[in-house]
Amino acid sequence: MADPEVQKNSELLNDERWMRLALEEAAQAADHGDVPVGAVIVIGECVAGRGRNQTERRQDPTAHAEMLALRQAARVSGYYRMPSATLYVTLEPCAMCAGAIVLARIKRVVFGAWDPKAGACGSLRNVIQDHRLNHRCSQTGGILQQECSVQLKAFFSTLRGSRGT
Ligand SMILES: [Zn+2]
Repeated sequence: MADPEVQKNSELLNDERWMRLALEEAAQAADHGDVPVGAVIVIGECVAGRGRNQTERRQDPTAHAEMLALRQAARVSGYYRMPSATLYVTLEPCAMCAGAIVLARIKRVVFGAWDPKAGACGSLRNVIQDHRLNHRCSQTGGILQQECSVQLKAFFSTLRGSRGT
């Protein structure tokens, strides 16, 4: 049997690897003036979906990174339920995305920065682990938290700078 400590370390390295991909997606959102949030859905060792926040670009309040990644992954896998998938996202999912994650039966959610203002995976509420719902995800928060929050803070400070406030 594998040493549980070694197994835990390799899981952490794996989580960080996929989170870096989500950070790359997020950076592209910022290029278009959107709050930099990126998401990646992994099934097995393959990326099934990617998304970056595009609410400003598309003028669509539902165009969050997780929603776009879920849509792509469902299209790619041919089924809207993904019980073996892990969703990586740079910011704690909001209530809308957490609801969609439950509907998609995602197995595990890994996020970077906590969102005390809108987070629905532990901050304001926990939709993905609500025992009253018929599906619960396992979750890990705080993976590459530093990088994820620095990216968000840099975006908002540039925004404030350009508005002269
Ligand atoms: Zn959301």
